[in-house]
Amino acid sequence: MKYIVVTGGVMSGLGKGITSASIGRILKNRGYAVTAIKIDPYINIDAGTMSPFQHGEVFVLKDGGEVDLDLGNYERFLDTELTRDHNITTGKVYQAVIEKERRGDYLGKTVQIIPHITNEIKERVRSVSRKSGADICLIEVGGTVGDIESMPFLEAVRQMHAEEAPENMLLVHVTLVPLDTQGEQKTKPTQHSVKELRQLGLQPDVIVARCREPVLPDTKAKIALFCDVPANAVVSAHDAPDIYLVPSLMESEGLADYMMKMLGLETRGNGTEWNRMIEKMGLIKKTVRVAAVGKYTHLSDSYISISESLKHAGIERGCRVEVSWLDSEEFEKKPSSISRLSEFNGVLVPGGFGARGTEGKILAIRYAREHNIPYLGLCLGMQLAVIEFARNVLHLADANSSELARTSHPVIDILPEQKSVTNLGGTMRLGDYEAVLRENSLAHRIYGTTKIVERHRHRYEVNPDYIERIEAAGMKFTASNGNRMEIAEIPSHRFFFGSQFHPEFRSRPGKPSPPFLAFVRSMLGQ
Ligand code: GLN
Repeated sequence: MKYIVVTGGVMSGLGKGITSASIGRILKNRGYAVTAIKIDPYINIDAGTMSPFQHGEVFVLKDGGEVDLDLGNYERFLDTELTRDHNITTGKVYQAVIEKERRGDYLGKTVQIIPHITNEIKERVRSVSRKSGADICLIEVGGTVGDIESMPFLEAVRQMHAEEAPENMLLVHVTLVPLDTQGEQKTKPTQHSVKELRQLGLQPDVIVARCREPVLPDTKAKIALFCDVPANAVVSAHDAPDIYLVPSLMESEGLADYMMKMLGLETRGNGTEWNRMIEKMGLIKKTVRVAAVGKYTHLSDSYISISESLKHAGIERGCRVEVSWLDSEEFEKKPSSISRLSEFNGVLVPGGFGARGTEGKILAIRYAREHNIPYLGLCLGMQLAVIEFARNVLHLADANSSELARTSHPVIDILPEQKSVTNLGGTMRLGDYEAVLRENSLAHRIYGTTKIVERHRHRYEVNPDYIERIEAAGMKFTASNGNRMEIAEIPSHRFFFGSQFHPEFRSRPGKPSPPFLAFVRSMLGQ
């Protein structure tokens, strides 16, 4: 197993995740199976309870793991499926060690950060990478070198580095090269953060310098000298117009060649698949405009998988998908403003929890339905479409979800067999589930098959008591898993599609998710 550990210096938010994912991609393009581990030094066990306001989207894995959105970037860049073990947090490590201590596994010894916590970290890293079956494992250490929280992880990396053969482990340090007021590229922050890293016993093999513009040869030479790395191990990671262009940028900086040599690997692939996708990106001519009506609209990371899925579908159809994130509460404050949706080629309502903003989303769905504007509803976006239909077509005026309000018509509800479960977390339906599609439906045409697997993250369901009435009025449930409805569509509409699952978690560049592709086609009038 080859390990590549990526640390970050100077400050957070440098795009370390994208840098790591891009490193993974250039190695995958050389013909190797690459997997990734994200280390998050926070005490939370996982990202399931974290607010998208603070941390961006919660990404959902096939096994139901609710993880940091960086794992989404890894899945997309590496075209792979990860599991919850690929996200190691301080919480998980300490929980495991404390459980072992309670069981008496440490035979009366004093349990300490070194060696017990660091051993636990090393064991996890090694067993996760082994189980993945990959040739190369990327390990991104979250946070910035020098943070108290990341110390045990960096110490574990130091120990691993001493234990592994030199050609089996590379250290990559991502830093910032800022420009001063004269526009000169400054290397001091990089020097300082490498110094900090060295104090922890870690000498980087590669320095990736993030900069607004290409890092100049002189700047690279200076970094090389002060940080004691060869000049060709200093790589310019300047701003790229799109994240999917970062791998090509690193390739052109010679990083893949350099790493392959250091790791003692032969090139055995040429990345045709990825390059074909990049070529298609260059051919984009048209633009379609989507109104995404949500809650966390000020933070673009809150819905990153949706934005990426729209992009994947757009690349495939030769168009740019311009997404405007609209705050649904604005529509509640001023209902007449809903008519601005007519400026868009399509309307999308993403997933969400809680009542806030839902009435504004329902207004948007009604507008899309009545004006024959393509509509894509994801999870809550599907549930609200059912509620809107029940209210305005079936005239069940107070129809709602029992999650959102007291109602005499809970068209969205907890299934009877779930009602006895009191532990809220326990009732969440998470990860991969199969759905069976109805023949000759839109869903069937979109997927081209009658059995699909998609990822889920929800508690509530379409209430079976209302299905017959809703279907008789023209909304069809064309996919299901037992008595759980997975897809709602309106055949008489140009494109009206809602899914209880989250197709955005399985979309990949070069392999767009079928519902997103169909949505984009319909927006293009195809
Ligand atoms: N809040 C809804 C539920 O729990 C929808 C969840 C979601 O959109 N992810 O069922």
